[in-house]
Amino acid sequence: MPLTHEVFNQPPVLAGFDVAADPAMLDALRREGAGWAEDGIRELGRLAGSARAQEWGRQANEHPPVLRAHDRFGHRIDEVEFQPAWHELMTVAVRHGLHAAPWRDPRPGVHVARAAGFYVWGASDAGHCCPISMTYAIVPALRNAPELAERYEPLLAAREYDFGLRAPLSKRGLLAGMSMTEKQGGSDVRANTTRAVPAGDGSYLLTGHKWFTSAPMCDLFMVLAQAPGGLSCFLLPRVRPDGSRNSMHLQRLKDKLGNRSNASAEVEYDEAAAWLVGAEGRGVRTIIEMVNMTRLDCVLGTATGMRTGLTLAAHHAAHRMAFGRKLADQPLMANVLADLAIESEATTLAALRLAGATDRAARGDVQEAAFRRLALAATKYWACKRGPAHAAEALECLGGNGYVEESGMPRLYREAPLSSIWEGSGNVAALDALRALRRQPETAEAFFAELDLAAGADRRLDQAIARLRKEVSDPAEERARYLAEAMALALQGALLVRHGHPAVADAFAVSRLGDDAAGGHAYGTLPAGTDTAAIVSRATPEILP
Ligand SMILES: Cc1cc2nc3c(=O)[nH]c(=O)nc-3n(C[C@H](O)[C@H](O)[C@H](O)COP(=O)(O)OP(=O)(O)OC[C@H]3O[C@@H](n4cnc5c(N)ncnc54)[C@H](O)[C@@H]3O)c2cc1C
Repeated sequence: MPLTHEVFNQPPVLAGFDVAADPAMLDALRREGAGWAEDGIRELGRLAGSARAQEWGRQANEHPPVLRAHDRFGHRIDEVEFQPAWHELMTVAVRHGLHAAPWRDPRPGVHVARAAGFYVWGASDAGHCCPISMTYAIVPALRNAPELAERYEPLLAAREYDFGLRAPLSKRGLLAGMSMTEKQGGSDVRANTTRAVPAGDGSYLLTGHKWFTSAPMCDLFMVLAQAPGGLSCFLLPRVRPDGSRNSMHLQRLKDKLGNRSNASAEVEYDEAAAWLVGAEGRGVRTIIEMVNMTRLDCVLGTATGMRTGLTLAAHHAAHRMAFGRKLADQPLMANVLADLAIESEATTLAALRLAGATDRAARGDVQEAAFRRLALAATKYWACKRGPAHAAEALECLGGNGYVEESGMPRLYREAPLSSIWEGSGNVAALDALRALRRQPETAEAFFAELDLAAGADRRLDQAIARLRKEVSDPAEERARYLAEAMALALQGALLVRHGHPAVADAFAVSRLGDDAAGGHAYGTLPAGTDTAAIVSRATPEILP
C-alpha cells in the first residue's frame, strides 16, 4: 500500500469520559437534596461516556426496531423486534431505577436523583428514554385506581427489565406507555373517537384507533376512550391476565425523523380489555397527571441533548487547529461555545429545579406543586424551542465532520425537535402556562416568590422580572409564547444569579435579560469582554486514563 497521506489535526475519539462531570448538574443535585446519589450518578456517567454505551446507542439507532405483525402461518402476533443494543440500554436504565423506581423509595431527593440519572444516561441514546419516562409518569395517574396501583405499581417500580409479551403479573418487571393521539387530533384529545363499552364484569372493551403509540412492546398502556360517561382513562394490558393477547393490533411503525431506536406505532383496538382509571368522564384530568410527569422529561431530555452537543463541540474545538490556533482559542469560536454553554447550563439548572419541585410536591408541599405547575409549562415551551437551534450550532462547530453521521451530531439534531412536539406542542405548552396564570393565581404567586429570592442580585434580572410582572397582569392569548419565554428566561436567570458560576450568570444576564440585552439572535453573539475561557472550560470533557 503506498502511503498517500498521514492523518493529523483530527481530534481524539471522545470515549472514556464521565458524562456526569458536569458542574452545573452536580451542584444542582446536591442543592435539590440528592447529594447522597452522587456516587451512583458518577458511575452511570462513566458508563454513558464509555465506548461500549456509545456503541449501543449507535447500533440501536442504525438498526431500528422492526414490526412483526404476523407469524409465518399468518396469525397476528403484533410484536416489535429490537436489536440487542436496545435491550442493553433498557437494562441499564431500569437497573438504575430511572423508570418508576422512585415512587417506591421514601428517601427525600429520590426524584432529583432519578432526574439526574435520566439526564446523564440519556447521553447514550434518547429513544429508549421514552418508555423509561412513560413508566415513571404513569404512577401518579394510576393511583387514581388504587386497586390497580396496588397490583401493578410494585412491578412497574421493580429494577428488572423483563422483555416480552406475557401476562403482566407473571413478569419480574413491567413497562408502561400511553395512547391518546388519534388521526383527527392529538392536542385536542376531546376529539377522540375510540369507544369503551362496559363488559359487565367491571372491565371495558375498547374499540378504535390511535395514530401514535410509542414503545408498543410495553406491558401496560394508559388509553383515552369515550365511555358512556364521557372521555375516560383506561389501563390496558398488552396481554390479558389469563395470558392471551389483548386485541391491540399494530398497523405500522412510523418512519420518524429521529428517535429511531424507539418504535412508535399506529394501533387499532378491537374490543381490547381495559380497566377504568379515575371516574368516567374525567379522562383528561386523570391522564394529565401522567403528561405532567413526561413534560419534566422533555425538559431533562432537551438539557441532555444540549449538554451532549456542547461536549462534542468543545472537545472538537479543544483539539482542532485552524489558521494557526486551536479553534477553542479563536475568539469568535470561543464566543459560540460559551453561548452554547450558557444555554445548556441554564436549561440544566431549570430542569433540576423542576425535579426538586417534583420531589417536594410528591411529599405534599403545596407551594412547590403550585410553582411546578406554571414553571414547568413555561420551561417546557422555552427549553424545547431552544433545543433544535442549539443542536444545529453545536453540529456546525465540527464543520463538515458534524454533518456526517459518525460524529453523532446528526442524531442529536434529528432528535431535537421532538421534545417540543410531544406532551404538548409549542403553542399548547405556552397556552397551558397561560391557563395556569388565569385559572390558578396561586401558581403565579409561587412563581414570583421563587424569582423574588434573586431580587436585587442583578440589575438586568430585576428589569426582566419587572417587565414580566406587567405582562402577566393582562395576558392575551396571542402573547402566550412571548409570556412563556419571558417566564422561562426569568427563572433561568434567577437560578443562575443565585447558584450559577459567576461568568455564566453574568453572560446570561447581559445577553438574554435586561432592557438593553446585548445578545444577538444567533448563538455566538455575546458581548466583548465575556469570560468565555472560564465558561467553555466547564464544558470541555476530560478523557479518563
Ligand atoms: C415520535 C412521536 C411519538 C409520539 N408518541 C406518542 C404516544 O406514545 N402516545 C400518544 O398519545 N401520542 C404520541 N405522539 C403524538 C403527539 O403527542 C402529538 O403529535 C402531539 O400531541 C400533537 O398532536 P397532533 O399531531 O395531532 O397535532 P395537532 O394537535 O393537530 O397540532 C398541530 C399544531 O397546532 C398547534 N395547536 C394545537 N392547538 C392549538 C391552539 N389551540 N392554538 C394554537 N395552536 C394550536 C400545535 O401546537 C401544533 O403545532 C407522538 C408523536 C411523535 C412525533
